[in-house]
Amino acid sequence: MEKTTGNILKINTKKKMTKRMRTLIWQLSIIGLVSIIYLISGFSIITNSYSKITNRLYADTEAVNILNQNMYRHQTIVFEHIVASSSESKKEFEELANDLEKDIMEQLNYLGNVMSGSSYETYYHSVYSGIVGYISNVDLVFDFSRNGERETANYYMESRLEDYLNKVNDNMDIMNGLIRDDMQLAKDNMEKEAVFVRTSSIVLLFLLLVVSTMSQIIGFRISDEMVNVDPVTGVYNYSYFVEVLNKKEKKGELNNSTFIAINIKGFQYINQQVGNELGDQVLRSYASLLKSCLQKNDLVARFNGDAFYVLIDNDRVDDLFNTLDEAAVELELNVQEEFVDKGRTMTIKVPSRCGFYRYEEGTRIDDALEKSALALRLSRGTNSDRIEYASEMSKNEQYKTRLIHEFGNAISANEFLVYYQPKVDLNTNTLSGAEALVRWLHDDTIIPPAKFIPILEQEGFIVELDFYVFENVCKTIRNWKHNGLKPVRISTNFSKIHLNDDKFADRILDTIEEYKVDGKYIEIELTESVGYGDNATLTSFVKKLKGSGIQVSIDDFGTGYSSLSMMKSIDVDTVKLDKTFIDGIAKEDHNEDDKKLIANIIRMITDLHKNVLCEGVETIGQAEFLKSVNCYQVQGYLYDRPLPLGEFEKRLARPNY
Ligand code: C2E
Ligand code: CA
Ligand code: CA
Repeated sequence: MEKTTGNILKINTKKKMTKRMRTLIWQLSIIGLVSIIYLISGFSIITNSYSKITNRLYADTEAVNILNQNMYRHQTIVFEHIVASSSESKKEFEELANDLEKDIMEQLNYLGNVMSGSSYETYYHSVYSGIVGYISNVDLVFDFSRNGERETANYYMESRLEDYLNKVNDNMDIMNGLIRDDMQLAKDNMEKEAVFVRTSSIVLLFLLLVVSTMSQIIGFRISDEMVNVDPVTGVYNYSYFVEVLNKKEKKGELNNSTFIAINIKGFQYINQQVGNELGDQVLRSYASLLKSCLQKNDLVARFNGDAFYVLIDNDRVDDLFNTLDEAAVELELNVQEEFVDKGRTMTIKVPSRCGFYRYEEGTRIDDALEKSALALRLSRGTNSDRIEYASEMSKNEQYKTRLIHEFGNAISANEFLVYYQPKVDLNTNTLSGAEALVRWLHDDTIIPPAKFIPILEQEGFIVELDFYVFENVCKTIRNWKHNGLKPVRISTNFSKIHLNDDKFADRILDTIEEYKVDGKYIEIELTESVGYGDNATLTSFVKKLKGSGIQVSIDDFGTGYSSLSMMKSIDVDTVKLDKTFIDGIAKEDHNEDDKKLIANIIRMITDLHKNVLCEGVETIGQAEFLKSVNCYQVQGYLYDRPLPLGEFEKRLARPNY
């Protein structure tokens, strides 16, 4: 198989996208945070510094203005002093002037403090010296005025003090102008900075918008992927597959399509061998292989585990199956596993089973899927790996469901009957034992075991039924003894799944104990396919029962996978040859080689010190042949069919054939 990496790429892309998404969210948050901090701190720094500057400047102008006003007031007081006629009022004006002088000096000192080191300092000093000069000359003016020398006082005022005042006024004007300029400058600077902060914030916000939109788009894509795509293989997941199918059905696009349910054979084994991580790699490559067989309108989805569904055009089904017949995946061993070396590539064959259903118009999607899945399930019991759905399958399935449903009631209503098929000893032509065989009396019809045992076996209910039969057998043997009938050994069939239960032998022993049945009347039949996967289980089972005289036989020998050499290691009492062995014997066209084969098998089993019983003997010819090859234990319609209890009891009373 060509190694397809499309889906792996997709998964990687997805991983990358998730990573990118995360980075973007980070970037987004950081940009958001930075821009908010920047905005807040930028504006607050600017407004703070601006308000600091302006506050100070306002305070300065305010102080200059007050000083200015006070100087004017002082001047007015001096003038009023000059023009005042009474010495009382002159005195009052002098006091007023003195108070004002104190205020003026305080204001001057204050201004001196705030302006020290500033660009206004020089002008301040001029103002200072002007005011001090003015104040120190004011007393002279008051002296002239008090002495009634109004003219001299006026003259002094205009010629001396005016100079000082002009100096003060000029410098104050200059200071005011400077302060105004500084304020304008601060305002301009603040505006410049504010424009920068505003522009950069807009850029940041725009960036924030772009990043958040991008992450939303990516987020949608990722969440879409997460919702619709199987994370392991990158193909659709089941629920999205069904969604797409429903859409296709509405548009009438399914009419030439086939639904295929696919299951990888023995995937558990692959997983066990190469580990889960590489197992996932197998699933991914397998999904890619499936994809490579599909065209535009086809679909593939992973259902769960190693189960896939494909929707494909009818014309391409065969091609897909041909590809799947050869399916193999190349594994890159980039992880160290127990059985493999890192860095090596390994090719693994990936065989599969498929059930398929050719869509018929009007079929509901879930029915179509179930039909393909049913065909897949049924392929398990067959040799074919590609099975097409047929309507009988659904009928059988319904039968199965009903049967399972009714089984519980049937047990409690005693609907299961135990029949006994005699076993005959050909040396003496007498009854030597019997096999208990179950029947189901349901709705007045007797249902043969073939119709329900395999289903109960699949579903695990057989365990209950086998013990039901076995208890019935024990009860019957106890009754025989009670009624003075001499019992024969009765064999009971037990499904192979019992061997998984450690308590299997104990349960048998408990049951015979409960019904007080001697173990020598009991034989357990296990089908031959059991035990060979696990000889030890069977060996210990046989050993436990042997102590109580219970015998164990291998049923249907020749139909399973056992070999005589394997037989050797298992300590069973009897081997039951399957009916198919002698089916051809004593017929017109029988084959001499068949006879030789049976004769040898019988001889070898006997040599291994085991009894041989031949099942399904229907003709005298077969019986004669068996005797000639030293097989004296038989069971078959020639002697008796499985008999209801009453009939069998008659046979027990007259055991000769
Ligand atoms: P099996 O254990 O091989 O039982 C022998 C089957 O061969 C019986 O079919 C019997 O009626 C049939 N048979 C015997 N002699 C002849 C003959 O000369 N010619 C033909 N054509 N058939 C003959 P039955 O009773 O229908 O049972 C079928 C199978 O169902 C049994 O095969 C056994 O595997 C299973 N079974 C029956 N009862 C139980 C049970 O209680 N528990 C379990 N686990 N399986 C059971
Ligand atoms: Ca049997
Ligand atoms: Ca059998």
